[in-house]
Amino acid sequence: MVLVDHVRCTYCGSCVSVCPMGALELAETRLIVDQSCVDCGLCLNACPTGALYAGPLPGAETGGPGLPLRRHYDVIVVGAGPGGSVAAWEAARRGLSVLLLEKRQEIGSPVRCAEGVAHEQLISFIAPDPRWISATVTRAQFTVVGDDGLTHTTGGGGGLGYVLERRVFDRTLAEEAASAGAEVRVKTAATALVLDDGLVRGVRVRGPGGETDVECQVVIGADGVEARVGAWAGLDTTLRQRDTMSCAQFLLAGIDVDPACTCYYIGMSVAPGGYAWVFPKGDGRANVGLGVQADVAERPALDYLVRFVESQPHLAQGSPVTLVTGGVPVAPPPSRMVTDGLMLVGDAARQVDPLTGGGIVNAMTAGRLAAEVAAECIAAGDVSAAALSAYETRWLAGWGRRLARRYRLKERFPPPARASRECMRVFTVAVGGK
Ligand SMILES: Cc1cc2nc3c(=O)[nH]c(=O)nc-3n(C[C@H](O)[C@H](O)[C@H](O)COP(=O)(O)OP(=O)(O)OC[C@H]3O[C@@H](n4cnc5c(N)ncnc54)[C@H](O)[C@@H]3O)c2cc1C
Repeated sequence: MVLVDHVRCTYCGSCVSVCPMGALELAETRLIVDQSCVDCGLCLNACPTGALYAGPLPGAETGGPGLPLRRHYDVIVVGAGPGGSVAAWEAARRGLSVLLLEKRQEIGSPVRCAEGVAHEQLISFIAPDPRWISATVTRAQFTVVGDDGLTHTTGGGGGLGYVLERRVFDRTLAEEAASAGAEVRVKTAATALVLDDGLVRGVRVRGPGGETDVECQVVIGADGVEARVGAWAGLDTTLRQRDTMSCAQFLLAGIDVDPACTCYYIGMSVAPGGYAWVFPKGDGRANVGLGVQADVAERPALDYLVRFVESQPHLAQGSPVTLVTGGVPVAPPPSRMVTDGLMLVGDAARQVDPLTGGGIVNAMTAGRLAAEVAAECIAAGDVSAAALSAYETRWLAGWGRRLARRYRLKERFPPPARASRECMRVFTVAVGGK
């Protein structure tokens, strides 16, 4: 029977089209070969990446295809989300040799985000560009939904902001990193850290060409909510259920929404411990989603979302053209974000706003800060945890302090109290990016 190398497979379906037995099935991002395969081999030639094989994996001994890597870089960044790409961009801009690794085949896809950012926070990184902006928003509306179903709506906060097209936005940041000199690799994952006497000395990298160890002076772990890099280095980044928002979102098309207003819905019946949002995307579309606190919700987030959409006549008339799911860490920062030769940024360091779940600009800010500190420490010839802790200190003096305050506020208002007038006031300010 034909076998699939899932590292190489790019789920294009070319093999399925030539199989005379119907033995292959593309189940979204999983290629399945069933028992009816007769080893005719037709699919092997149709595969553009050499992911199908009968017998030994071709290319395993030679390293196979795939772009070459150097043996050593100053900095290796794991994960090309906003945090990782900005870190790579900044480090390369400062003259360091940089490798940016992304395990997915397309940076920015699939999207796991409602795509809202505040103008003020974004502009210190990149000038707003219509290529990656779906909608410009100027207003916000807040609806509290009581347990009896009665609603109370107020306007306020908001401020100038954007609903991004993150597929394009994330890729643009990686392109900026490449333009500054970073080497970017897609479908290339970090699978372990290279350790020498407990010190981080590099990254084990697995790509279409096989697996190899690459050395560096500093690793920046920007591997998102599913982060493993920190744990490999002995940093505890495990999330408690109560600090995890479980989210589901539809991109709804064919709806009538205010194109310049973001809407928030808060109430235990809508989204226990979290909230629902409607973020306009232009052309009669909107990101309509919600997050529920994992230990409080009685059903999966998607069930709450379906119920929410059905309860809103102006949304119920639309069609979901995309389903987004994801987890958001709404946790305090881990006790350490650095160790010898390693720093964590973005969702990997749990640097999300615990009240709003926003983390795009937070990750970018941390990425820039980590790259600055990496450059200083490499120049000084000291990448020990003590030297790199300048990153923790600078983070905690700015954004970190604000997020710690937000976490304390989240804890002060247990889920049923989040619709209270006092909590809504705090939430309104937080949503405005203040
Ligand atoms: C439903 C939902 C809605 C959201 N809405 C908003 C919003 O409106 N506004 C906002 O500001 N934030 C929002 N967020 C949060 C925001 O998406 C994240 O905070 C942000 O993407 C964090 O950026 P990052 O660079 O840290 O991580 P990510 O964007 O998650 O990027 C991490 C990258 O690392 C890659 N990676 C992981 N492991 C490896 C590995 N071993 N090797 C190589 N690559 C690896 C991943 O494939 C990924 O591309 C939302 C999140 C969710 C789930």
